[in-house]
Amino acid sequence: MKTEIISTGTELLLGQIFNTNTHYLGARLSDIGFDVVYHTTVGDNPERLENALYQALKRAELIVTTGGLGPTADDLTKELIAKVLGLEMILDNYSLERIKCYFASRKRKMPKSNEKQAYFPKGAKILPNNYGTAPGAIINKNDKIFVILPGPPFEMQPMFEDCVIAELKKITGPDSKTMKTRILKVFGMTESAIEEVLGELMNNVNPSIALLAKRTEIHIRLVASDVDEQAAEKSLNVAESMMRSRLGTKVFARDEETMVGIVGKALKSRGLKIATAESCTGGLIGVALTREAGSSEFYLGGVVSYANSVKEGLLGVKASTLQAVGAVSSEVAKEMASGILKRSGADIAVSVTGLAGPDGGSDLKPVGLVYIGFASAKGVEARKFQFYGGRDTIRQLSVTAALNWVRQYMLLS
Ligand code: ATP
Ligand code: MG
Repeated sequence: MKTEIISTGTELLLGQIFNTNTHYLGARLSDIGFDVVYHTTVGDNPERLENALYQALKRAELIVTTGGLGPTADDLTKELIAKVLGLEMILDNYSLERIKCYFASRKRKMPKSNEKQAYFPKGAKILPNNYGTAPGAIINKNDKIFVILPGPPFEMQPMFEDCVIAELKKITGPDSKTMKTRILKVFGMTESAIEEVLGELMNNVNPSIALLAKRTEIHIRLVASDVDEQAAEKSLNVAESMMRSRLGTKVFARDEETMVGIVGKALKSRGLKIATAESCTGGLIGVALTREAGSSEFYLGGVVSYANSVKEGLLGVKASTLQAVGAVSSEVAKEMASGILKRSGADIAVSVTGLAGPDGGSDLKPVGLVYIGFASAKGVEARKFQFYGGRDTIRQLSVTAALNWVRQYMLLS
């Protein structure tokens, strides 16, 4: 069912608050099978809101509004919906009593202006508000459904979860479809490389497949639509295993999982301790590892060795190596990694040395050149990376590449 979400509120247009309602409703409505095709944001202006409602009536079957249910003169959502549907506004005595009780429970008398919140377009199904004064409503008229919700998220969300979902199911019937989404996260491949490897799968209709490039990783989004959740889940599982068989271990995580979450879990379950030696990332790997609760079980600590003197003094990198090949080199990455491994007593160690830019690059060592070192009881190795992007992107890519190496190591061990 084609669905439009209309958010009202001038402060949304001016960027004073984030439109979290649209974010929430977009995700939840598509979860339960609605085809969200438009998001509209409009200020507290009666003419423009009326226009937005007419426009939505032309292009959507389900229209969900948030905001504009308050007691003040600029709260006009219900009134304008009544107008575009040609319905009169009727007082709902039960809602009026509830609003009066709401005030009474706070030892206040209900201001006259709040009476307005108990009026609804004729024929509306009224949705109680357990967290504020403004009830919501559902109107089902001429094959169009309006869901009218309050603006404050802590009022809107419970109303949506507790009342709206069940009401929508009643209206749309048991055979309406369910949609389920799955995200596969890939590191170390470009969008075009993924597209090439996935080939004809990219054109799959159900689940549909889309690539979303994030700063350090690429997300593959699969959306399945089916008669119920189990059926949708099943077709996601089939598609996921086909993709994994082509992308192999480049897929590092699924849905809410993160690179560092995966790495932390793997280290914990194997009882391994890790230590870090960081130059251009300035401690960001340590930050990432310690973001996980319980990180003390697997992270011993690290050295941020920005200056050569610290690389020598705290990690034991040889002055002769620094002189011969420079700080940004495979040799120094290796010496940093084995230095921290030995000094910390960890089972594995990673190191990063590179040029994050924007200055300091040369033809031989351009900005974005990063060496990552990896040391364990089996020995020490380094890999060369050439990243592109701004300083922040290069640093984040270095962190993810280092963690990814740890992940790959554990997949093999
Ligand atoms: P009230 O009775 O509080 O006036 P209302 O239903 O009239 O509620 P609005 O006046 O539009 O809703 O919004 C009230 C508050 O709710 C806003 O100031 C804002 O804090 C929050 N809010 C409204 N819309 C959104 C939105 N789309 N995303 C996030 N927060 C929102
Ligand atoms: Mg308001």
